[in-house]
Amino acid sequence: MPELIFQNFSAGYSADTTAVSGVSMKIAGGSVTAVIGPNGSGKSTLLKGIMSFPGVYSSGSVTLDSLDIHSMNRNERAVRIAYLPQSPPVPAGLTAIETVLLGRFPHRSAWSGDSSGDVKIALDALEMVGATHLADKFTDEISGGENRLVNLAAVLSQRTEVILLDEPGSSLDYGHAAQLWELLSKLAEQGIIILATTHRIEMSGNAFDKVLLLSEGRSLAFGEPENVFLSGDLLSSVYKTPMKVRRSSPEGSWIVFPGGAE
Ligand code: ADP
Ligand code: MG
Repeated sequence: MPELIFQNFSAGYSADTTAVSGVSMKIAGGSVTAVIGPNGSGKSTLLKGIMSFPGVYSSGSVTLDSLDIHSMNRNERAVRIAYLPQSPPVPAGLTAIETVLLGRFPHRSAWSGDSSGDVKIALDALEMVGATHLADKFTDEISGGENRLVNLAAVLSQRTEVILLDEPGSSLDYGHAAQLWELLSKLAEQGIIILATTHRIEMSGNAFDKVLLLSEGRSLAFGEPENVFLSGDLLSSVYKTPMKVRRSSPEGSWIVFPGGAE
């Protein structure tokens, strides 16, 4: 099983400031980790820092199976780690299947076209997210939620052992969001490491194995969801509104009561 280890990891937008700092955690394959926290708490910056995003400075370390991620070149990283940005650009003139096939790039040699194997992987990925019907549509002629599914499929077709997702469920309807978290749980069961930011813990069912709570750019808590969510006082102080989180049953879905009403 792959293992991703963060040691005092920090990231920010200049050499002497951080937008997220002090992240130390160990996450193993076979698990889904949620990154939660208010707007501006550093969730996206954390993922950008892991990916050495242009213009993002980082310190501390993130290792994948003892190998420093920042010592990998772009292609070495892309065959092991896939990343879905919060708002990826929508390229004009590409169909959904062509967009999904971009996820196969790191696995191809220079100048080779899409093999039948690549096309099969891309079609499988579209099917996994329930978007087969979009295959031949142009991505600038489909909805925001439909584009989200296509981008998710592109990430899945990269077939990596680590998947980083920045608000993957945003702009998805209830059905597709539920399907998404079920799919992420299933992928995790195959040994993949999933790290996903989200605001909608109630849409995740019981998909999370671990939760990282960020507040004002600091890592405030990391651990079992029970320990992070069920401490209502902690969430209330972080979100600056009375918060309660319950579970529908001991293994059941999370239910969120923002504003404190129950
Ligand atoms: P979140 O994803 O949790 O909403 P972000 O990681 O996007 O938060 O932002 C964390 C902090 O970094 C915020 O204060 C935000 O204003 C700042 N920030 C985000 N993007 C940039 C950027 N490109 N340049 C400078 N500061 C940024
Ligand atoms: Mg964000």
